[in-house]
Amino acid sequence: MSLIENDQSCTWINQLSVRSNTQTVLKNEDCDWLIVGAGYTGLTAARKLSQLHPEKKIILVDAQSAGEGASGRNSGYLVDTTLNDGFTSNKELSNYKKKTDIYQLGIDVLKKFIKEYQVDCDWNNSGKYFASSKYEDKIILQNFSKTLSKLGFEHNLLSKEELTQRLGTNFYNVGLYTVGGVLLHPGKLVRAMINALPNNVILYENSTLLKWKIIKNIIYCKFKNATICTKKIIFCTNGFLQSLGIKTNYNFPLTLTASMTRPLSENEFRSIKEPREWGVLPVKPMGATVRMTKDRRILIRNTAEVYNPFKMSGVELKKRSTNHKIGIKKRFPTLPDNIIESSWSGIVSRTRNSSQIFDKINDNIYVAGCYNGSGIGVGTLFGEQIAIKASGETSSEINVINARQKPTWLPPQPFLNLGVKARLIYERLKAKTET
Ligand SMILES: Cc1cc2nc3c(=O)[nH]c(=O)nc-3n(C[C@H](O)[C@H](O)[C@H](O)COP(=O)(O)OP(=O)(O)OC[C@H]3O[C@@H](n4cnc5c(N)ncnc54)[C@H](O)[C@@H]3O)c2cc1C
Repeated sequence: MSLIENDQSCTWINQLSVRSNTQTVLKNEDCDWLIVGAGYTGLTAARKLSQLHPEKKIILVDAQSAGEGASGRNSGYLVDTTLNDGFTSNKELSNYKKKTDIYQLGIDVLKKFIKEYQVDCDWNNSGKYFASSKYEDKIILQNFSKTLSKLGFEHNLLSKEELTQRLGTNFYNVGLYTVGGVLLHPGKLVRAMINALPNNVILYENSTLLKWKIIKNIIYCKFKNATICTKKIIFCTNGFLQSLGIKTNYNFPLTLTASMTRPLSENEFRSIKEPREWGVLPVKPMGATVRMTKDRRILIRNTAEVYNPFKMSGVELKKRSTNHKIGIKKRFPTLPDNIIESSWSGIVSRTRNSSQIFDKINDNIYVAGCYNGSGIGVGTLFGEQIAIKASGETSSEINVINARQKPTWLPPQPFLNLGVKARLIYERLKAKTET
């Protein structure tokens, strides 16, 4: 198993205070529960387990610093609806409704967390845009509008003029605005989850689970310096499920890259007509997501690829950053060339049909993950609910989760990677103007 080597340049993460007193796995230990992965899913699972079992020993481990995987480096859209989940479009109404029911529960669980712990994560009920520069994409938006109307989601189609006025760029020619959907600071959110960990959860960071095996109902988990023996385990490693041998025929990792500019100066901001904070999602799956942040930065994510999930070299990241620069320039030609402050990569997990994994995979072994790019709310929900499921309990939320379509089977390697790469090339070509 390789070690995860993240770049250190994500603005979201660098805006947070440096944490101290972190611990790593150094000695052999026993516990009742081991949770692997300290992103939204694992942190929430740990918090819930601690409420359900205050007297039990719970250990949470992460291969890197907690919250610094995808959870701390995403684009910060908490969605109520999606037009595409990666490269799957939502065609069938009843299944789409099941999906949005899950999104709504994700928003609810986060609202509850934020209220209870008084979290400041720049939460903005700004709604969100789906937009394209191609007039012919209007038909996709009109069909999407019909789906949203049938399900009662407040929204409206927008003309080029309206988009230009609201976004400060005349790049987009067709668009749809949904009232639902929140923009937030992903790093602040995940940091609040770390701070909210209760005392009976021990957090070990920079501690990679290398191997695991079950002998007589005990799960032996091997780390570099020691072994943790646990009665129950929950895998919350999302894009790294495959590398741990979990549900390998149902999920695969994709590497995304994003960049963020420095805050725009007063003059620059005035030159683009001082728009309010906004977030645009692409109409074509491989188009760019672009955000204007609260502090007047532009964020862009326009790549998704099959790549080694453990590390992207500085040289490779730079190439992606150049793509981001072009994407920003296309939308904001009057802004200076060199305003990108940071670029980073992050790993998401995908399934073939864009459905999530929420499973008992063996006695005492559970897994939650694969949110197909919508993991802020859904990951938090699945973390809470997998803790309930693993405790042998049930809930109305679990009923909603269980009603979803289950992930479908994927072919083995090398066919899987070949198929995914071919599909990504095809989708990229279709979205050529939108990156
Ligand atoms: C660039 C980018 C943009 C995105 N934009 C959005 C968005 O706008 N909205 C949205 O909802 N979602 C978005 N996502 C997806 C979202 O970030 C994820 O779905 C979410 O963070 C998943 O949370 P998680 O806790 O399940 O996984 P992660 O945050 O990936 O956490 C998993 C953790 O497991 C750890 N781990 C892995 N292997 C091991 C091991 N062997 N031993 C110990 N620990 C291990 C990792 O270090 C990691 O910290 C985006 C993702 C990226 C990368």
